[in-house]
Amino acid sequence: MTGSSDARTAELGERLAAVRRRLDAAVEAAHRPAGFCQLLVVTKFFPADDVRRLLQLGERAFGESREPEAGRKVAEVLGDWESPEPGDVPVFDMIGSVQSKKARSVARWARAVHSVDRPKVVDALDRAAVAALDEGERADPLGILLQVSLDGDPQRGGVVEEDLPALAERVVEADSLRLRGLMVIAPLDGEPGHWMAEAARIHEAFRGRFDAAELSAGMSGDMEEAVAAGSTCVRVGTAIMGDRPLISQ
Ligand SMILES: *Cc1c(COP(=O)(O)O)cnc(C)c1O
Repeated sequence: MTGSSDARTAELGERLAAVRRRLDAAVEAAHRPAGFCQLLVVTKFFPADDVRRLLQLGERAFGESREPEAGRKVAEVLGDWESPEPGDVPVFDMIGSVQSKKARSVARWARAVHSVDRPKVVDALDRAAVAALDEGERADPLGILLQVSLDGDPQRGGVVEEDLPALAERVVEADSLRLRGLMVIAPLDGEPGHWMAEAARIHEAFRGRFDAAELSAGMSGDMEEAVAAGSTCVRVGTAIMGDRPLISQ
């Protein structure tokens, strides 16, 4: 188990502090209020003990991307979580793509899903969230961020801009989902600043039409550009956790 003074905790603490400094500086440079942009620490491929170390370091929001690894890890971490104050409970978001058949398990642990890009997945998550609410496995509707494709590449996923309003309507009409905003992953080619400006333009139009103000944009390599474009949530893995292990769990 984790001691507060082990070498890994020290390493995570240093990298976390560096990322928090980058984030604070970016928020300030963008003339946004402190705390405007949430940090989601992406712990995919890393063990439950690392999540516990990050909890000790004060983090409460995490991103996971694969079932069933994610569900198991969340159950393990929450199983021995002793909340310092009532209501101080860690939250886990699903940032990877969800297959319909995994929707039921995701709805048990995820605060929100950031990667929704198809009507079929909206329907599966709604059915799953209805069941999870009925069974007392969750207390609130499942948050939904629609992943937008910035370049139309089907590999990376995401709904193209033209199809976004219809997909958003479907979420709004669902019984147990709450539309929270948009998510983007910048394509690797070209300038991050260019893609983030494109995300900002799409987000602006979207917000004019839907009550869903969040923009999940920015990772280890493009946090600054994302915050400049109005990101409300950066998803940072490598810069905090280190390189992902080659062997998946
Ligand atoms: C893995 C992942 C991240 C984290 O990326 P890093 O470059 O390691 O910070 C962010 N978003 C999504 C959707 C991911 O799958």
